[in-house]
Amino acid sequence: MGSPAEPFRTVIEPFRIHAVEPLAMTTPKQRAEAIRAAGYNLFNLASSNVLIDLLTDSGTGAMSRDQWSAIQHGDESYAGSPSWEIFQRAVKSLFPFRHVIPTHQGRAAEKILFTVVGGPGRVIPSNTHFDTTRANIEFTGAEAVDLVIPEGRDPKALHPFKGNLDTAALDALLHERGRENVPLVMVTVTNNSGGGQPVSLENLHAVRAVCDRHGVSLFLDACRFAENAWFIRAREPGQHDREVADIVREMAGLADGMTMSAKKDPLCNIGGWLACNDDALAEAARNLLILTEGFPTYGGLAGRDLEAIAQGLKEAVSHDYLEYRIRSTAYLGEALDAAGIPVVLPIGGHAVYIDARGLLPHIPPLQYPGQALAIALYETGGVRTSEIGTVMFGRQPDGSEQPAAMDLVRLAIPRRTYTQSHIDYVIEVCLAVQERAPSLVGYRIESEPRQLRHFTARFAPLV
Ligand SMILES: *Cc1c(COP(=O)(O)O)cnc(C)c1O
Repeated sequence: MGSPAEPFRTVIEPFRIHAVEPLAMTTPKQRAEAIRAAGYNLFNLASSNVLIDLLTDSGTGAMSRDQWSAIQHGDESYAGSPSWEIFQRAVKSLFPFRHVIPTHQGRAAEKILFTVVGGPGRVIPSNTHFDTTRANIEFTGAEAVDLVIPEGRDPKALHPFKGNLDTAALDALLHERGRENVPLVMVTVTNNSGGGQPVSLENLHAVRAVCDRHGVSLFLDACRFAENAWFIRAREPGQHDREVADIVREMAGLADGMTMSAKKDPLCNIGGWLACNDDALAEAARNLLILTEGFPTYGGLAGRDLEAIAQGLKEAVSHDYLEYRIRSTAYLGEALDAAGIPVVLPIGGHAVYIDARGLLPHIPPLQYPGQALAIALYETGGVRTSEIGTVMFGRQPDGSEQPAAMDLVRLAIPRRTYTQSHIDYVIEVCLAVQERAPSLVGYRIESEPRQLRHFTARFAPLV
């Protein structure tokens, strides 16, 4: 199966524009002033000072005509709204778990899940925990352990499924810590913090087998389930003729539950859910939900949000959409790679990750080469990206600071939002920064909070 555009090179967007948003042009002088006032933290910038916003693909996508029309169908009854039924049916058609618990976004599902199963002495293994997942686990006093395969930590290693979990390491950890201290194993699909790399079906089956041997449950952090399933279809032997929706159902069938952010593959601006098969876990989770999110048939969302998610889930597994999505991300990554900018290979699903340590070898990890590169991309062309490295992961629970495994800068691509000419501009900006890379300087942190410091820390250049 191919797209109608197959004989041509251009990555054609499988949609046309229905409503437009203006983009603000700024001068280099305005940007230098804006980033200084922001304490050199890109999260502190007003988006009106950003031209191309690749800070995150979370909640920043464009909804479709059919999603906006579904919003008009939203029923705002407090309890038992038909929009809840439509939402639940759409979720269960891909993820047939017994209990579906809506939340206002992914981290609310994590907070509830780990409040129930976490706590001191507990350990939660994953391929790589996302930052909010890790923070929610550690907040309960439990330990978050990353067990991605060794290739997943090497930006240059070519492996089709670099998000895979190291099953031998998982088996060893379960032996050492005992099932009573490991409430569940998590697998993040795709592996966001590890470069947006997919997990194979074969690996999910192998993880399931280890979990079964030890009597431990398996949960998916399924934010990018559709992109992961597309990679399985494209790269895994024997999967090429399958429907993506069918692959998703097989992935879900291997797990006992999931957390989800509807701001990612479900193509919405807000939303999420927790799902599981365990009745006792679901009851404990619903009791917490009522405390902080809302009644179990809306969980922090409006009826119209539930409708938009239901429609978004149908569009997320469309082959035309996924082909465009994955190819357009690769288009950016391949251009940077061809120009000699070190990027994580193969190119992931939702983002391109520049290896800042590779591009700026003169800046040591504790002077934050990823932050330095992200600031330079903004100053040069108004492109906002995010550091995924020592700023994000360097502070240890005991208060010490260590270099992260990698210092990356993530260029996250919002879904259905930018065109190929926007991306061509981003490529030009990256090449301009590459040219003056040796002149970039490191940064120090002037102030930081206790948790998730990358969101609010303030920096100063080391000049
Ligand atoms: C975004 C994300 C989350 C958290 O979801 P939010 O909706 O941002 O709270 C959790 N895990 C992964 C892998 C994510 O990408």
